[in-house]
Amino acid sequence: MKAFTYQRADTTARAAAAAVKPGAKIIAGGTNLLDLMKLQVETPSALIDINRLPLDKIEDTSDGGLRVGALVRNSDLAADPRVRRRYGVLSRALLAGASAQLRNKATTGGNLLQRTRCYYFYDITKPCNKRSPGSGCAALAGFNRIHAILGASDQCIATHPSDMAVAMRALDAKVETVNPDGEARVIPIAEFHRLPGKTPEIEPPPGVQVYRKVRDRASYAFALVSVAAIVDSAQGKIRSARLAFGGLAQKPWRVPQAEQKLAGAPANTASFNAAANAVLEGARGYGGNDFKIPLTRRSLHGVLAEMTRT
Ligand code: SF4
Repeated sequence: MKAFTYQRADTTARAAAAAVKPGAKIIAGGTNLLDLMKLQVETPSALIDINRLPLDKIEDTSDGGLRVGALVRNSDLAADPRVRRRYGVLSRALLAGASAQLRNKATTGGNLLQRTRCYYFYDITKPCNKRSPGSGCAALAGFNRIHAILGASDQCIATHPSDMAVAMRALDAKVETVNPDGEARVIPIAEFHRLPGKTPEIEPPPGVQVYRKVRDRASYAFALVSVAAIVDSAQGKIRSARLAFGGLAQKPWRVPQAEQKLAGAPANTASFNAAANAVLEGARGYGGNDFKIPLTRRSLHGVLAEMTRT
């Protein structure tokens, strides 16, 4: 392992200032970064430990939302009574992730920022444009069972692995960051994994909240396909729906057109199909992951049928 320096940050602004130096990395729970360092995928020259910063609180906001500190552990966020009562989809998504031991250590900030679980990204003997730009993408013609079917490119077909981020996408959460001058910036979760843009709602949306994760085994496995759904319906009619998907793309995937197909529609196979068609528009399999396309459709049908059953 490459030698690195270690320092504890005592303020958020100092942590941000230290982290922008070349070769520096922030460490909190370390559940992803340490794996990457052991495999030589990440070779930082300096680790900035932020575990002592006062970012481990879950606070009520004046507009009825919740403000979650970057250092709140995944298990604490999932168990918080306010999260369970008002944002059940978030609690369920967190509990669908990793294992109890990892959730006790992993943080909210790290969960959002974790790297892809593409096998080739973790294997430094293989070409990977994400790890080594211009080297190629071994997943395109390799094992791509867990890879993207939407939003991919010829350079990379990785997915984002976070369950929590998928639920946050359905809830239109906002992410607050701090720059080295101590200035805060608010980024809608919709834009967090790319450039910032529109302003989301904060209030808990009405309706039933469900998080369904399809994976190879019942625990400690990343999603092949996951669905975070918030559906408001009555007497067989859907008033509104918010849908986000994991395991499909390099970011939590949300398709407003699919939600529009459901708003005001009867809760039946035809409207579920119309929504699934909108979600899967442009989806492309790469051989090993072709099954994700029908699996996404079936998962969405199952979730919607369960949520609108009277
Ligand atoms: Fe690398 Fe992306 Fe290709 Fe995986 S899918 S090998 S992360 S470039």
